[in-house]
Amino acid sequence: MKLRTTRGALVVAGIVIAGIAVGCGGGDGIESADVVLRGGKVVTMDGKRRVAQAVAVRAGRIAFVGSDADAGKRIGANTKVIELGGRMLMPGFVDAHLHSLAGGRALLLCDLNYARLTRTQLAQKLQTCIDATPEAGADTWLEAVNWDRQSTASLDADPTRALLDGLTTTRPIAVTSSDFHSVLANSRAFTLAGISAATPDPAGGTFVRDGSGMPSGICEDAAGFQLKAAIPPDSEADQLKQGRAALAALRAQGVTTFMDAAAGDPHLRVFKALRDSGELTARVNLAINVDAENANAAPANEIAKVKALTAQADADAPAQAPAVRARIVKVFMDGVVNAPADTGALLTPYLQNIGTDAAPQWVQGTNLGQLYYTPASLQALMLATVDAGLDMHLHATGDRAVRTVLDAVAATRLARPQADFRPAIAHDETVAVADYGRFAALDVMATMSFQWGQRAPYSIGDTENHLGAERFARMEPSGSLKLAGARIVHGSDWPIDPFDTFLALKIGVTRSGDPTNPHSAASLAPVFEGPINADPSLTRDDVLAAITVNAAHQLRLEKQLGTIELGKFADLIVLERDFLTVPDEELARNRVLLTMVGGQVVAALDTFAATVAPQRSALNAKARVLSPRGSAGHAIPSSVPGAPHGHGDGHNH
Ligand SMILES: [Zn+2]
Ligand SMILES: [Zn+2]
Repeated sequence: MKLRTTRGALVVAGIVIAGIAVGCGGGDGIESADVVLRGGKVVTMDGKRRVAQAVAVRAGRIAFVGSDADAGKRIGANTKVIELGGRMLMPGFVDAHLHSLAGGRALLLCDLNYARLTRTQLAQKLQTCIDATPEAGADTWLEAVNWDRQSTASLDADPTRALLDGLTTTRPIAVTSSDFHSVLANSRAFTLAGISAATPDPAGGTFVRDGSGMPSGICEDAAGFQLKAAIPPDSEADQLKQGRAALAALRAQGVTTFMDAAAGDPHLRVFKALRDSGELTARVNLAINVDAENANAAPANEIAKVKALTAQADADAPAQAPAVRARIVKVFMDGVVNAPADTGALLTPYLQNIGTDAAPQWVQGTNLGQLYYTPASLQALMLATVDAGLDMHLHATGDRAVRTVLDAVAATRLARPQADFRPAIAHDETVAVADYGRFAALDVMATMSFQWGQRAPYSIGDTENHLGAERFARMEPSGSLKLAGARIVHGSDWPIDPFDTFLALKIGVTRSGDPTNPHSAASLAPVFEGPINADPSLTRDDVLAAITVNAAHQLRLEKQLGTIELGKFADLIVLERDFLTVPDEELARNRVLLTMVGGQVVAALDTFAATVAPQRSALNAKARVLSPRGSAGHAIPSSVPGAPHGHGDGHNH
């Protein structure tokens, strides 16, 4: 709470803290707590990595961390006591890179869930989705997502539109692959999209065709976007549902703060509306996507547009009730280093096969990938960002893209030596060894998606061949960057990958997946088991820091959250199993049993389930008190497409 005097009047800036409990607990004049969580292993993640037994919460903040005995002194008549039963309590997860509405949207569509499906199984799954929505009209598109095309192709063969035309429906159907590179459609969809044998392939895309030249079902890259352009945009109501679905998934997995990595107006409107209705169960941070063409041409104009959006977000003094913040500019530097796209910007070319499939001969080709900004235009954009008081989050997968960003930061630091600027490079899938130390030297965060450090269809095979042995040996350099002093942050990139936080953390530690986990490529085939390469891994402490204190730093929330310390928000999670002691191979086999945001339980399972209901309604009531803004002006224009297309231009990450 911030009090300030303006023209003689005392006004409360931003928020009012409601319901501060006053009264005495066990004596000594100590105020009793709203909630005491005791009998656990409290992993504080503070600077000294202290471990305690109990935490007391008052007015949404941490009022005490220490022993059970001392916590007892904070228990008064109205204190809710949660017995941890020896379980691990830690700061809530901070997911520093995901795509919220796209993730929520995927949950609401026909979700093929990355499963390994034959063509027949694929058809059965789609029919099940159709049958589950009998109310859908004949013109309502059936959109299916998270289809693992590579699996279907390897088990069976690529499907055609005939497979979908055989389903019992007249609805148009579009099935999008989990890497977003392919869309399978039925004949009705092609008709509605006006795509026929006479339609040429678009730039950057291909319609797979039959012998007569007719598109046969699969549309690749830009051809897929051309087909899906026929799908009506999501309505306001649809977008709100997506936001709600995302929040439900986040709280179930213990994510109490997140950053949307390709946000725009729809995200701002949806989450502000959910804030006002008391439904926000995570702290929302939006990285506002800039358009590369505009940003190259007129960087200051583009940043001015971002600034206009960020001005509609909540002020930068966060309250304990979840808010919607926006103070980061999102930039896409390149595409992806995964085959067959090969669009990540590399310092030396991708390899190409001049032999045959049976007797391959991989030699350096000519493709260096694509850089979406010139060094000069990026530097101009970065300066404009700093001058606007904003930070920058940059997608860069190839070593040339990463180096271009580091160079721009170096120039920015020289030009604005006093500026408080926190740049982060997302993905960093390949980084030149000579650049490892520059992350620390220039204070640039490496925001990694740990789950990419597993052997998977997108990382080995063609991708491995195209990158070549030397580059592949140092792919996904989280451990090397950490050893070089970089601040490592984790972001799931959901829904580009399955949302499975413990799997991601496990891969961060072991650089290998879990064959028992259907979200892990290791469950597909033995070739995907074992470490991706011999590059160093992270420790358990490293990955926990990456998803708590370091992620809080990226969002400038390190004073408010990310550790369990006095005065910080009571954003806490209880784990089913102790992440610090389970065997390596079982690191992904864990669950969040309780999620607390600002002192309110927002999700709980098993023995903790009884703690959730009254607390949840309390959150809603308090959030309404804390959000005195009117609900007017939260209408969402139906012209805005629902899913952000941050990675839609050919990115699969
Ligand atoms: Zn990305
Ligand atoms: Zn992303």
